[in-house]
Amino acid sequence: MLAEIITVGDELLLGQTIDTNSAWMGEHLALSGIAVDRISTISDAPNALVDALDLALKSVDLVLITGGLGPTLDDRTKQVLSDYFDTPLVQHDGVLANITRWFAHRGLPMLPSNVEQALLPEACEMLPNPLGTAQGMWFGVKGGHQVVVSMPGVPYEMKGIMTDEVIPRLQDRFALPTRYHRTILTQGVGESFMSEHVATWEEGLAARQVSLAYLPAPGQVRVRLSSEGENQEEVVRRVEQEVVAFKALCEHWIVSEREGESVATALTRELISSGKTLALAESCTGGAIASSMTAIPGSSACFLGGVVAYANEVKVDLLGVSKDVIEAHGAVSEEVVKEMAQGVRRRMAADYALATSGVAGPGGGTKEKPVGTVWMALAGPDGVQARVLNFGQSRSRNIEKARLECQAWLLRELREDKR
Ligand code: ATP
Ligand code: MG
Repeated sequence: MLAEIITVGDELLLGQTIDTNSAWMGEHLALSGIAVDRISTISDAPNALVDALDLALKSVDLVLITGGLGPTLDDRTKQVLSDYFDTPLVQHDGVLANITRWFAHRGLPMLPSNVEQALLPEACEMLPNPLGTAQGMWFGVKGGHQVVVSMPGVPYEMKGIMTDEVIPRLQDRFALPTRYHRTILTQGVGESFMSEHVATWEEGLAARQVSLAYLPAPGQVRVRLSSEGENQEEVVRRVEQEVVAFKALCEHWIVSEREGESVATALTRELISSGKTLALAESCTGGAIASSMTAIPGSSACFLGGVVAYANEVKVDLLGVSKDVIEAHGAVSEEVVKEMAQGVRRRMAADYALATSGVAGPGGGTKEKPVGTVWMALAGPDGVQARVLNFGQSRSRNIEKARLECQAWLLRELREDKR
């Protein structure tokens, strides 16, 4: 089944709103074995929707429209669809009752434009929207062989209607192939290096009916293995078999094989399951590591706290770094970052401590320590180790990459300790 997404709204064309609806729909349609052929963004002008529909219905089976269903004058999608399919707008008493209740519940007055939201094209199937006042609409075209769906532009309303109404109907009424995928998060290896490393295996994938996608992000590469077919069991087996092969080839770089899991979440899980605690001493990362740890529910079971030790005095006074060592080697150095990690580990009585000290940029670089130089240390029961990495010129990316490196480093350490 082939689909086209049409997002309606001048605000999308003007760049005032970013079209996140298409991205979400594309991802969720793919999971149901529906391929998106094209995404169009059009203005609120009625003829723009007519033209887009004419074009889409020439080539796809399913057209999904979002936006333009609201009560304001610029929302014209419903009227255009009623004209397009030559079917009058009629009042839905059930919808009117719901809208009336919706306003009463919030203590808001109901306006004539809200009453109009209970008018729907006679020929459509109403897709209830419990989260708002504009209902979704399903139009069967050419005896139901083609479908046009219209939904509100508000992202969470669209998601609700897609999940509860549209996808189940598509699964019911069309023979959709089964699709299955696994996503694996890796870190510490670039996309091209990885692709080179797995080349022989990757070349054979197509013949085994599995496809591979690289989804790179700064410092990380997400790998998605997917397959499609008639038989669910067979499709799952195919993908799982390749996951095993990929893991054998890339084990060292794998951070998580759970869907959508971040390195911070994987680390939190690993710390909790091994009953260990973490403390942080952050200079150049300025609390970014701490912030990403506390963002995870349940992290209080393993994360003790951190010191943002930006000034040298703080490194000395709070972490016990030696003044002489700072003077001799500079704050961005192996010696200092090791003392920071050991200092905070001792002060917080943690099992592990991570520390960072670097030149985040854009200024402050020298010949010996150019912008992007970051020293990281990991202190644990077996002592302290330090590493230096050189990232790049962008301050925000340097901070982010240092954070990810530190977390992946400790994660690997914990996994190795388990073996
Ligand atoms: P409502 O019934 O709430 O008025 P609507 O169908 O009229 O819904 P719009 O008025 O077009 O929808 O948009 C409602 C909100 O949703 C706006 O804040 C808009 O910026 C946002 N929105 C619309 N389309 C998209 C999209 N494609 N991606 C993300 N946000 C969107
Ligand atoms: Mg709009």
